[in-house]
Amino acid sequence: MPITSKEALSRAIRLTESEEKWEEKGSSTLPLLISDHIASMLSIPEIRRQFVPSCEENEDEEGNLDPLEEEAHEKAGRLIHRYHNRAAFLVTDRCFSYCRHCFRRRFTGSLTGPASEEEIREAADYISSHSEIKEILLTGGDMFTLSDDRIDTLLDIFKGRCPDVIFRLCTRAAAVYPERFTNRLFSILRKHQTGAPFYLMTQFNHPAELTDEAIRAVNGFLDLGIPAMNQSVLLRGVNDDPDTLIELCNKLLYYRIKPYYLFQGDLVRGTQHLRVPIEKGLEIEKRMRSELSGLGMPQYTIDLPDGGGKVILTENHLVMKKGHEYIFTAPEGGTRVYPDPVN
Ligand code: SF4
Repeated sequence: MPITSKEALSRAIRLTESEEKWEEKGSSTLPLLISDHIASMLSIPEIRRQFVPSCEENEDEEGNLDPLEEEAHEKAGRLIHRYHNRAAFLVTDRCFSYCRHCFRRRFTGSLTGPASEEEIREAADYISSHSEIKEILLTGGDMFTLSDDRIDTLLDIFKGRCPDVIFRLCTRAAAVYPERFTNRLFSILRKHQTGAPFYLMTQFNHPAELTDEAIRAVNGFLDLGIPAMNQSVLLRGVNDDPDTLIELCNKLLYYRIKPYYLFQGDLVRGTQHLRVPIEKGLEIEKRMRSELSGLGMPQYTIDLPDGGGKVILTENHLVMKKGHEYIFTAPEGGTRVYPDPVN
């Protein structure tokens, strides 16, 4: 049985004072839900910190619940069109486990439930009439909390109306509920592999999440020819040290999952205790860049508040431009000059 109450949680683990007081001060907007798979891993501190709520969530007055201004960019039922060439469809508010760092707390776990067929059709019509949209993110919540039949209907509608749009299947389920990925589900996905491809977008934040079951789940997608990309969140007390992230990225790459993003925590109320100072993030990024191959290196990225968009955070090596020459600091030490072609 998944854990859904503090009483059940305290039967599973001995709560700290801060975890014990979670519900006392104000009320967090994100419910407590921990899958069996994650419950069996709560002895690992870095797992516990991601899923067990503490009173720090309710003491946080910084930020707001929609720092990326998604609501302002809602175009059709549940469709967010914030970037010119891609859109996100909020399939459902539900997840298999709620991550305490969730950036979409305004919506996640809000009991709004799965999108209706009418909302799906409305979103698909909007996308098919906007030829600039090349990719759609099926997100939420977690789309795989839907039943197989609902996923089948969802893909039927979208694929029928927007066959040339690439679909990103965004899910944390491989890490938190890997048993969801059954042969029947994969046969439904296979049926809809027409037109533009699917991409699997996972979220693994710590090497311990790469269990045998999780790898098996991802392999099901890879065996269908669906590439897998990982988006981690930089989290204090979870993965805010270079060794952990280097190990994570090397393992991801080994299992054919491309480390894609390492996100700086968004300015979402209730998550300040999990955010890492940018200065520290940049030091971590520098070490990672020096020890990982280009293939294994994710982009350390911040999604700017007030819907400002994504900016990549990395050490600036360009010192100055002198005439047609660019002067760089070299990772190997010293400086180097790169002259532009003269004509
Ligand atoms: S799985 Fe994703 S949407 Fe759900 S709580 Fe975690 S971060 Fe939020």
